[in-house]
Order: sequence, then C-alpha cells, then structure tokens
Amino acid sequence: MSDHNIVAIANQKGGVGKTTTAINLGAALAEAGYPVLLVDLDPQGNASTGLGIDSDKRDLTVYDLLAGQHSLQDCAVATSIENLGIVPATPDLSSADVDLAQAQDRTRLLRRKLEAAPSGSIVLIDCPPALGLLTVNAMVAADAVLVPLQAEFYALEGLSQLLTTVREVRQTANPALRINGVLLTMSDYRNNLAQQVEADARATLGELVYPTVIPRNVRVSEAPSHAKPVLSYDPSSKGSAAYRQFAAEFAARLKLVPEEA
Ligand code: ADP
Ligand code: MG
Repeated sequence: MSDHNIVAIANQKGGVGKTTTAINLGAALAEAGYPVLLVDLDPQGNASTGLGIDSDKRDLTVYDLLAGQHSLQDCAVATSIENLGIVPATPDLSSADVDLAQAQDRTRLLRRKLEAAPSGSIVLIDCPPALGLLTVNAMVAADAVLVPLQAEFYALEGLSQLLTTVREVRQTANPALRINGVLLTMSDYRNNLAQQVEADARATLGELVYPTVIPRNVRVSEAPSHAKPVLSYDPSSKGSAAYRQFAAEFAARLKLVPEEA
C-alpha cells in the first residue's frame, strides 16, 4: 500500500489554468509543509519554466522517466521553493505518443515509476492539452483527477469527453480512479457571464466544484515570466490568497492533516 497521493490535473482544452494550478497549488501545499512533487507531463514544459528550471538544467526529464531505465529520484530536481520538487519536461516529450506506442504496458509507464514517490508526498501531474497517451498515463498513475475549468461559455462542453476518458481508464487499467474535483479558474467577477458559468457548473456538478474560485488576476499571469509561483512573486495578491485557500480545501479532500493540527 502506497501512502502518497497522486493527482492528475487534466483538461484537454488548452489555456484553462492547468499549469498555473499545478504550480500554485504545489507551492501553496509546499508552503503549508507538505512534500510536493510536480510532474511536468506537457512537452511545452511551462511548469518547468514557470518554476525556474532552465532548459540547460533539464538533464533528465519526464521523457527519460517514461522511456528509459531512470528512476523517479534520478529525474526529479529541487526548485527554489522548499518542499517542492519537479520532474521537468522538454519538447522531446512531444514524440512520446509515437515513441512509446509499441512499448509493453505503454499506459502504465508513469504508474510504475511513481510507485517510488516518497512516502507522505503529494504528486501533482500537469497534463498536456490532449487526451492522448500522456494524459492516459497520468490517469492510470493517479488516485484522482482535478479538472480546472475556465469560467467561460463553452467550459462545460468538453467535460463529457474528459469524463468518458476517466471512465475508460477506470474500466481498464485503474478501477480506483476518482474525480477529485473541478476548480473554476480565471473568473472575472465584473462579468455576468462568469457568474452564470459558475452557477451552471454548481447546478450540474454539485459538490464536485470547489467552493473557492480562482479570480483572473494580473499578478498570476506575470509570475511565470519571473520564474516563480505567484505565491512567491506577490504573496499578498488576490491570486495568491485564492490559491492558498484552494490548497486548504484540496488538502481537506485528500484527508490530509495540517502540520499544526
Ligand atoms: P493550461 O496549462 O491549461 O494550458 P495555463 O495555466 O498555462 O493553462 O494558463 C493559460 C494562460 O492564462 C497563461 O498565460 C496563464 O498565465 C494565464 N492565467 C492562468 N490563470 C490565471 C489567472 N487566475 N489570472 C490571470 N491569468 C491567468
Ligand atoms: Mg499547461
């Protein structure tokens, strides 16, 4: 029995806040004292860049983890944030779908490697904007899926496709896979449409939708160009406050006990 929590952050739509959530949820959990390992599973490597891992420091990447004999410990590197490590990604990961297509047990490659995750750690997997082999590997490895949803008109439409993939993974390689929850991101409270989307999401999905909504906040979008989570770039910003509050709700859903308790 493993005692780590593995959560895949997935949505096949790009630009909905997956990477921003991976970085800032990871930073907020690390700040609260939990050991966190982020797995950058997107060939764009935005989570790696956003946490200040320069390309020349990405010796071993998630590609080596999936395709080679390298262990999780070989491929993980520290970030500037205490308690937060990352397995970085580079563009060569974009050929993984093709390169790994013939591999034996090709959907279980990540799961096998994550068995070595440190005891008590939280592993967050930042998925690419597709439901291909990489995202399936994440879902096969994960205990649960967290779905960021941008508060805009078509937000709910892509969800059924995502849930179909979750169901297929459950029927095959990972019967224990759950939906952790849905996080509404980039919400603009001055905008009636955002409020309507939030009301619709809560009416349709109920308790699955996290109470905290992440507001659209310019400090959140500036932080990656400073190679930092918004929690370090501007700790008192609205975005930082929202991600801290969300992280507490997330930890509660994982039934984790805060250090001071
Ligand atoms: P994904 O990983 O789903 O493609 P990203 O996390 O990269 O999405 O977010 C897409 C863009 O939106 C990025 O430029 C990011 O900086 C910006 N962004 C994400 N969340 C917020 C937010 N709460 N406020 C402002 N900009 C945001
Ligand atoms: Mg991304």
